[in-house]
Amino acid sequence: MQYKVGIGYDIHRLIEGRPLFLGAVKIPYIKGLLGYSDGDVLIHALCDALLGALALGDIGELFPDTDPEYRGIASSRLLGIVKELLDKSGYKINNLDVIIIAQEPTLAPFKKQIKEKLCALLGIEQDVLNIKAKTNEGLGAVGHLEAIACYAMVSLAKGG
Ligand SMILES: [Zn+2]
Repeated sequence: MQYKVGIGYDIHRLIEGRPLFLGAVKIPYIKGLLGYSDGDVLIHALCDALLGALALGDIGELFPDTDPEYRGIASSRLLGIVKELLDKSGYKINNLDVIIIAQEPTLAPFKKQIKEKLCALLGIEQDVLNIKAKTNEGLGAVGHLEAIACYAMVSLAKGG
């Protein structure tokens, strides 16, 4: 059995007048995440964790924000492209752990839906994905409702 691990991090600015997408789920809130794509900070961190494990660089290299093809693109489509690279490598997701750091909105009521969505997009069972959501204790940009950040860590396995 061969193993790889990868880590991903992302942060996006929260502004009024944008829809909030986390894990390809639209979450009702007065603000949304600014970004060249839909600003889905969770999916971006996830993509970077997968790309990191595969030693394939990062999301900025793969989907440059100078490329008009990616303007306003649904991040679920970016994850689909990363999933194709994963499938091509022969590795499978062993487990995936995610931390969303958001002062607001309260994400507990949406965790189940986000988990189901991500498992469907990645073609994995629910028991290999863990989603944690926490506040930033009112500190810094995240604590002052100016941003949402996310960490993701993935373990991949091949062979056996
Ligand atoms: Zn991002």
